[in-house]
Amino acid sequence: MENLRRSMYELVVETSTNLPHDVRRAIQKAKEKENEGTRAALSLATITDNIEMADTNVSPICQDTGMLTFEVKVPVNVNQVEMKKDIHEAVRLATKDGKLRPNSVDSLTGENSGDNIGPGTPIIHFEQWEKDYIDIRLIMKGGGCENKNIQYSLPAEIEGLGRAGRDLDGIRKCILHSVYQAQGQGCSAGFLGVGIGGDRISSYQLAKEQLFRDVNDLNGNERLAELEEYIMEKANTLGIGTMGFGGEATLLGCKIGSSNRLPASFFVSVAYNCWAFRRLGVQLNAETGAIQSWLYKDGEKVTFQPEEAPESQEDKNEAKEVVLEAPVTEEQIRELKVGDVVIINGMLHTGRDAIHHHLMENEAPIDLDGQIIYHCGPVMLKDKAGNWSVKAAGPTTSIREEPYQGDIMKKFGIRAVIGKGGMGPKTLKALEEHGGVYLNAIGGAAQYYADCIKSVEGVDLMEFGIPEAMWHLKVEGFAAIVTMDAHGNSLHKDVDKTSLERLSQYRDKVFV
Ligand code: SF4
Repeated sequence: MENLRRSMYELVVETSTNLPHDVRRAIQKAKEKENEGTRAALSLATITDNIEMADTNVSPICQDTGMLTFEVKVPVNVNQVEMKKDIHEAVRLATKDGKLRPNSVDSLTGENSGDNIGPGTPIIHFEQWEKDYIDIRLIMKGGGCENKNIQYSLPAEIEGLGRAGRDLDGIRKCILHSVYQAQGQGCSAGFLGVGIGGDRISSYQLAKEQLFRDVNDLNGNERLAELEEYIMEKANTLGIGTMGFGGEATLLGCKIGSSNRLPASFFVSVAYNCWAFRRLGVQLNAETGAIQSWLYKDGEKVTFQPEEAPESQEDKNEAKEVVLEAPVTEEQIRELKVGDVVIINGMLHTGRDAIHHHLMENEAPIDLDGQIIYHCGPVMLKDKAGNWSVKAAGPTTSIREEPYQGDIMKKFGIRAVIGKGGMGPKTLKALEEHGGVYLNAIGGAAQYYADCIKSVEGVDLMEFGIPEAMWHLKVEGFAAIVTMDAHGNSLHKDVDKTSLERLSQYRDKVFV
């Protein structure tokens, strides 16, 4: 199959940079539902701008490459060993070309393999079938949304919904709860794949398989079709909205599958996928490996037009737009309130898990007094002259830094952190005591933010690998929203509270 490697490279690059047609249409529908000028509408506009930038520049939609998972169906007699080698080579090349971030990390040492190949990565599942062509589907599911997957073992007591039994109504409660518990942390609005039954492992597997169904696909099982429709309707009344900022669009798709189980077990597993729902597929000639057709590219391809940002109508009397440039003073920070839009010019310094862990015990490589930390693991490319450029640079999930953040801000005098999904009570308390602020950027908007980065001024702690190193970046017009301020206010806490109250309306039995 002389064309297989090239076909796999095309599949990987296209999946990383160009959202499928069904996903684009779902996002378009969500946009139509949001009221103009709200935080949710502004966030969706950033997301759609980002989608088009990624498509035009053939650059990653999100900096988090995610877990590459290939589902392959082959006719009898196709050499799977050779296919695996070609898939690995295509992944290596796409990583080298900056289309994927090096994302495969040794679980014990933390060492990054640098090319996305390592024990267990990428995931490749082969299955034989009796057709004469090869069908390969690829999903790239990011860590932020993967961390919001959840598994229930029925019967169970479900927060906000009470007792969930071993029946369709118990399943209903699990799925609704899964949307609530994800809040905006998995980069909502999201898509759900649900697996009912099986054992713990196959149940999750079934959930992930559901994500390969077209968003418009109708369930062949009437009861499950009814449940899918119910979940779509009710989940969108929870008010979690895009990035958890509140709003009308919380869920963009829900697909449910069921398999047999043991009499003693009853699992309901939910795979949560962010709006950056990167999954595509190809059908290949089994002799040559050439692409015969693309999957998930049927129907209209919505292209999003860039929008002039309308004036925010929300909290119109209080919210303001503020320009910050480091070093920032405590006084400047204490003037900010939840809902304010901050435009950052000047320096930002990236810091993810390894940096936060390191800074707890060690001195910082630069003076961080009054500085701004960005929770981000960018996709970087070095040219022949040794200069770095940024290929993708959206925010990563901040809650992972909750154990360290407050202490580090106080220790080094850091005044602001930027990330996504919000942080918890420990950080909120530290922001109040120290005079700090949490800024929420739009998760997954990796091209949009990369465009704000005007130069790479340096890098420290490269021993942690490209995504985990501390990059010193000069930005212009980098916009984010204050979602936790120095006065004890947290938009995340408020949305969590109201969405739990709304969830509780659905306690009563619906499916018998
Ligand atoms: S959009 Fe958010 S959850 Fe999805 S891959 Fe990107 S950072 Fe992760």
